[in-house]
Order: sequence, then structure tokens, then C-alpha cells
Amino acid sequence: MKLKNLKDQLSGHSVSENLKLLSGLFQGKTVFTTSFGAEDQVITHFIFSESIPITVSTLDTGRLFRETYDTFSNTIIKYRNKIRVYYPERKDVEKLVTEKGPYSFYESVENRKECCHIRKIIPLKHALDGVECWISGIRADQSGNRMNMDWLEYDEDRDLIKFYPLFSWSYDDVNKFLKENNVPYNRLHDKGFVSIGCEPCTRAILPGEDFRAGRWWWENGKKECGLHEKGARREA
Ligand code: SF4
Repeated sequence: MKLKNLKDQLSGHSVSENLKLLSGLFQGKTVFTTSFGAEDQVITHFIFSESIPITVSTLDTGRLFRETYDTFSNTIIKYRNKIRVYYPERKDVEKLVTEKGPYSFYESVENRKECCHIRKIIPLKHALDGVECWISGIRADQSGNRMNMDWLEYDEDRDLIKFYPLFSWSYDDVNKFLKENNVPYNRLHDKGFVSIGCEPCTRAILPGEDFRAGRWWWENGKKECGLHEKGARREA
């Protein structure tokens, strides 16, 4: 289906209407990937509470916060549903840590990308195997880079449609929704963590800092791990 036609079909509908529509159009081939951040919890709530037939998957890098696992656990308990977990290849992790130690990512951008590639990009490739529609919790105002994206995109490298149901939502909208619907959320959000990734690579942000400033804070430039960047599939 042409992107423009699909966009016309989805325009003007609610989040849950669009999730249902896409799960029908791409039956058994629609996946939502969660990292248990605030936005992801909103989407999980829609999928699980309305029994929308979309697979919910997560990437466990092995370096996540305790609070993230708590959110994972609280979510499956509340909604009595399963979340499919993808892990990095054991041999890759063993080789990386044996050769470079547990904190190689602090030493150079190249090392950091290597770690993200092993712990995130390759598992994501498995999570998206055979998938035609990938749903994610990206919002436009999370970063300047994301502002330039669109709420519905065709990912040429992975040959799939990407849909961001909360693209136009503000962070306040997200938090309001979580509160009103009693959705489990990552308690680190209460301590100034807005975008939450791996424990050694995430810090809380200070008032006025960019939304993603707490990710790989020792690096300058774009704060992305490659999951949503073009070419990630080819690199994998
Ligand atoms: Fe490794 Fe940090 Fe990337 Fe996690 S965020 S995969 S620990 S470099």
C-alpha cells in the first residue's frame, strides 16, 4: 500500500482506532517495541486494555535499570499479558566484555556504537524479522532530530511502515494520560529522568536541558543509538 493512501486512511483518527486499523491491515505483522518509558506505557495501555492484536516486544540489553524491570513486571501483572523479550547474542556480549571490559562505551563513540549494535541493533533486527508495520513511542518534541521525522514513515532499509501514534503529544499529555488511566510507569521519571535507556548511559536531566540530554551525556551531538536511524538494518 502506498504511504500516501495509508496516511489518508489514518488521518483524523484516535490512537486506538489507528492501532486497530494497522493491526487489521498488517495482520500478525505489526509490532510495537517498548523500552517501558512514559510514551511506551501509554501505547502498551491502549494495546493491552483494548486487546488489540499487536505484538509487544522489548530489547533487554542486560544493562537496564532495576526500575525498568519493575515497570516491565508491573505491566505484565496489571494487564495479564505477555511482552516478547529479545536478548543480545551471548557470544557477542562475552567477546565484547572480555576484550574491552564493562565500560568500553565511555572510551569512544566507536566503542559506544559497538555496544549499542550488539545489545540493541542486532536484537532489534530479530524483533522486526518479517514485520511490516513497526510502532514506536517517538514524539516530535523529544529532539530536533525527531522534529524532522513524520508520524508515518516508510523505512526503506527495513522495508516496513513506521507509525508513531503519539507523535504530536507533549510530555505533559503523556503524563496526564498515565495518571488518569492509572498506568504503571518507570519511577525514575519522578527523579528527573525523562528518556530512559541503559543504566550506565542515562542520567537525569537538569531544568532547561534538552529532552535527550541525559542519554550518552559524555558525547556531543545527536543522542540516538541507531534504532531509528536509516541504515541500521544494513549495518546489522
Ligand atoms: Fe551499551 Fe550504553 Fe548502548 Fe546500552 S546504551 S547498549 S550500555 S552503549
